[in-house]
Amino acid sequence: MYASRNGVIIPKEEAVVPITSREVQSGFYVYESLRVLGGFVTRINDHLDRLLASAKGIHLTHPFTKESIHRWVDELIEADHIGDATVRITLYGGADPVLFIVPVELLRYPDSYYRDGVKAVTFEGERLFPTHKSGSLLLNYVALEEAKRFGGFEALLVDRNGRVLEGTRSNFFAFSNNTLHTADEDLVLGGITRSEVLRSARELGFTIDLNPIYLEDLLTGRYTEAFISATSMAAMPLHTIDDLRFSAPFERTRALHDCVRARQWQ
Ligand code: PLP
Repeated sequence: MYASRNGVIIPKEEAVVPITSREVQSGFYVYESLRVLGGFVTRINDHLDRLLASAKGIHLTHPFTKESIHRWVDELIEADHIGDATVRITLYGGADPVLFIVPVELLRYPDSYYRDGVKAVTFEGERLFPTHKSGSLLLNYVALEEAKRFGGFEALLVDRNGRVLEGTRSNFFAFSNNTLHTADEDLVLGGITRSEVLRSARELGFTIDLNPIYLEDLLTGRYTEAFISATSMAAMPLHTIDDLRFSAPFERTRALHDCVRARQWQ
């Protein structure tokens, strides 16, 4: 099992960072999780563009180029004979920026999650740099652990204005009949799956509303379906948000999910 450190293939157990580093202590890093299927990385250009944009957004300077990172990912896939995997890129800033590429087991979810939906739990909190995929993930961690304590699969972050913006590791959407609602990209992470969901929604003839979803409106039953999206999940329906229930079949979410998954090879 291998990893890559600044482009050099190393044993995976040597992919470590020093606890004495200020950047490590402060979570001064950006990251991406790539989905690799049969040795093919889905949406690698989008992921690398976002990695570099996130680094720029938090003033994390480094010498790495998109081309070299792309090559290092390919070299690791070859050296490690990777077929299906999740590959995480982590780029730490500071005086000696370091970029790790580490494969882990591919995240897969049972079909029942897509058929029956999963539970989400709301959590009051705002991501520090919402449009960047950056470190300091304490909020995400605590919120998700809290959700798990209540049997939830994901925590939905609610901001100070009562808006349900996104999950700890996913974007959030809701349908009111044939209108798909989700917060605009200035308030949340520009998820790569989110843009695929929106593209699919346009193709399927849904209307798109990029105004954020208020918790109050959710709880009063304004929406007919709700779901989360992420690279590992595509579009995953929610059967419960706190005490609010949505009933299967989640036809519109399913149609979007199938459309997003069908396009993953492009
Ligand atoms: N929003 C947040 C906060 C995330 O951490 C993630 C993924 O980790 C997403 C949304 C989904 O992004 P993507 O579809 O690019 O995986």
